[in-house]
Amino acid sequence: MSEPRAYKNPYPDYSGPESVQGIFDAHGRLTAAFAGRISSKISELLAVMENGLKSADPRDCTGYTGWAGIALLYLHLHTVYGDPAFLQRAFDHVSRSLKCLTGSRVTFLCGDVGPLAVAAVVYHRLQRPQEAEECINRTVVKSTGNLPNELLYGRVGYLYSLIFINQQLQQEVIPAQYIQQVCDTVLASGHNLSQRMRIVEQSPLMYEWYQEQYVGAAHGLTGIYYYLMQPGFMTDEGRLLALVKPSVDFVCRLKFPTGNYPPCVGDERDLLVHWCHGAPGIIYMLLQAYKVFGVQQYLEDAVRCGEVVWQRGLLKKGYGLCHGAAGNAYCFLSLYKLTQDPKYLYRTCMVSEIKIKKKFAHPDNFYDFPLEICGMAGTIYFLADLLQPLAAKFPAFEV
Ligand SMILES: [Zn+2]
Repeated sequence: MSEPRAYKNPYPDYSGPESVQGIFDAHGRLTAAFAGRISSKISELLAVMENGLKSADPRDCTGYTGWAGIALLYLHLHTVYGDPAFLQRAFDHVSRSLKCLTGSRVTFLCGDVGPLAVAAVVYHRLQRPQEAEECINRTVVKSTGNLPNELLYGRVGYLYSLIFINQQLQQEVIPAQYIQQVCDTVLASGHNLSQRMRIVEQSPLMYEWYQEQYVGAAHGLTGIYYYLMQPGFMTDEGRLLALVKPSVDFVCRLKFPTGNYPPCVGDERDLLVHWCHGAPGIIYMLLQAYKVFGVQQYLEDAVRCGEVVWQRGLLKKGYGLCHGAAGNAYCFLSLYKLTQDPKYLYRTCMVSEIKIKKKFAHPDNFYDFPLEICGMAGTIYFLADLLQPLAAKFPAFEV
């Protein structure tokens, strides 16, 4: 099916080992030639990005559209390539970010805590423990009070910052108990709204953002449930079965006949195939539900999401992750990590082909947030992740 928002997929689907000749071997290792093409594209795009940064908003500290997003990209490149020059670039950009914190929000992508978390990791890698600790101390807030619950501006976005620090430093710097407290608050908030709406029978949890019950990963139910289902994030695992599972099942019942999902509860338009709204983001909840509850239907629904993205997810707009083809391709990587089915690595590589062949001639051609995680930096981040597909994670979201 071709979509006005997406390119008609020009690639034949995976049809056995001959499909991947010259791309990767039977163990999923990229050939030197293909990895080389990716790396040279990364270098080319970094040069375009750096040039574009000269005219970027100097006061945007955030991970979503500002300096912290660029720092996160360089931190990732340092992880993948081990080149200290990338760590230095991460330091330069996160230092800029720390100079323009707004004091207004606490999430990883849109608040101050993301830049602080990235800075903590940069300082840690630079072996400057005192500065790392200062940043970490500033990420712990007394209360998540009136925050919404969603990822971009809410509690689970805050949660990601804490998890990011623990994972990157490979130690429990932020105590598990504190993470559980935030999760308990998210759970209580969702149960409260469900009770007020008198829908506990259908969905024991419910969340709103600006009076809309969003479904997608960025603002909605599935992004929140993905976090609540992480092992050890809740003090009382019994509530997973009692509250979270039936709420996940409520979302599953919203599925369109195509296998895609609506952007909001009650919205009948099957239009958006973005990480932020639609199958490419909802798949993470489904895969996590499959891992936790072992119900085959969740995996089948996740596989359907993969089909939706393969048919309708090569988006025309955006070079980035939130609503671009690179972000959508992460769902193939998540299916590959779980199933090891070479079809999904093949599909990811085909999306990267589009990125490799595309001429990124001038920064003015970028869509909306041009340079950061939502823009060209997102494409570069994705290409670097393809070099280590089993370790790939959708940045600022996937645990
Ligand atoms: Zn988006």
